[in-house]
Amino acid sequence: MKKVPARREGLVKVVLKSGKDQSVMRYHPWLFSGAIKKVYGDPAEGDLVEIFDNKETLLGTGHYSPGSIAIRILSFGKNPVDDGFFAGMVRKAVEYRRNLGFNPSSGTSMFRLIHGEGDGLPGLIADYYNGTVVTQFHSAGMYRSRNTIADAIVENGLFPVHSVYDKSMATLPGAASPVNENAFLRGISDNPVEIEENNLRFRIDIIGGQKTGFFIDQRDNRKLASNFSAGKTLLNLFSYTGGFSVYAMKNAALVHSVDSSAPASALARENIILNYGNTPNHEAIEADAFEYLGGTQGRYDMMILDPPAFAKHNSVLGNALQGYKRLNMKAIEAIRPGGIIFTFSCSQVVSRENFRKSVFAAAANTGRRVRILHQMGQPADHPVNIYHPESEYLKGLVLHVE
Ligand code: SAH
Repeated sequence: MKKVPARREGLVKVVLKSGKDQSVMRYHPWLFSGAIKKVYGDPAEGDLVEIFDNKETLLGTGHYSPGSIAIRILSFGKNPVDDGFFAGMVRKAVEYRRNLGFNPSSGTSMFRLIHGEGDGLPGLIADYYNGTVVTQFHSAGMYRSRNTIADAIVENGLFPVHSVYDKSMATLPGAASPVNENAFLRGISDNPVEIEENNLRFRIDIIGGQKTGFFIDQRDNRKLASNFSAGKTLLNLFSYTGGFSVYAMKNAALVHSVDSSAPASALARENIILNYGNTPNHEAIEADAFEYLGGTQGRYDMMILDPPAFAKHNSVLGNALQGYKRLNMKAIEAIRPGGIIFTFSCSQVVSRENFRKSVFAAAANTGRRVRILHQMGQPADHPVNIYHPESEYLKGLVLHVE
């Protein structure tokens, strides 16, 4: 095979197999290793590479990685990926949120600022917590540009940012991870931070908490749940720091928050007190959700089921679907007649259709009459790239059980 030098200095050239350029032509940002005919050089994990079809046409530029997703494409066509590229994409992501009406002084001062592929920046998540931004890098290539990205976030000109905390220790790919501690990239902030969402107050542990500190993606669904919770006896399973519970406490008769994590349960208690003071109408219980659910026959008339992703890879999809079926079956069995269930899946590999089928199978096993009242998804600050169906990860159903 004749070696052809890369066209841009320093960038390795990757040529695709004949007919394997279809996904790139359709703007899918992931290129799988099976599509590659030849790599002209020896790129390191995180290097920028150029992608060509087998007729020498430049199709795009992306970050190389030795795994099954071999290239995460940043730019389609001839546009170069340089510091200006990153700053421009960050600015676009920020403007998009501003145009959607996000505004830190509106009563909702936390939202997702950058949502990976949904914002054309595969491998980068950034959440805005009223002036503190928490980043999570999922690719070594994106991590290399962290300083450019942090500067662009601080200097965005639309939302005030006083600190950027990077929390990529757990998200960067294992062995190649250049990160051995989470750290502030810019400035410093208090922790926990206190933030508002729909005028409700939350204390958020950005450093010790899960993900970037809060599950911002459930904002609209929490609000929807509060339309159903008036007068209800509600069980919030997998409650984390009490997101759904704080909303439901506006009008519910009784709320029980169940989570297996002690620090999450402690923060759930604090968040209820922060909004409602000491109240006998809420209890945070540290327990396994499946076990707890087993002993609740007829006790609750509303339930929230928001488990962690049961499947992180396609290889365990079958088990995950069984997990959703088992959880939903127990809930549908146990809820009082006329009860409402908010049930979710945040597994990227579980499609909306597969999730519905699992819940359908669960309902059929109980023999109860079940109706779907709403189909839920992720909010506009977690946009789905239409060319990358995988970015639609959050799906949920509101069920009415007779
Ligand atoms: N609904 C929450 C987010 C839930 S995240 C919100 O709106 O903020 C999933 C939660 O499930 C995590 O807090 C995790 O600690 C908890 N969890 C994981 N496995 C569990 C189990 N077996 N039993 C109870 N909780 C569990």
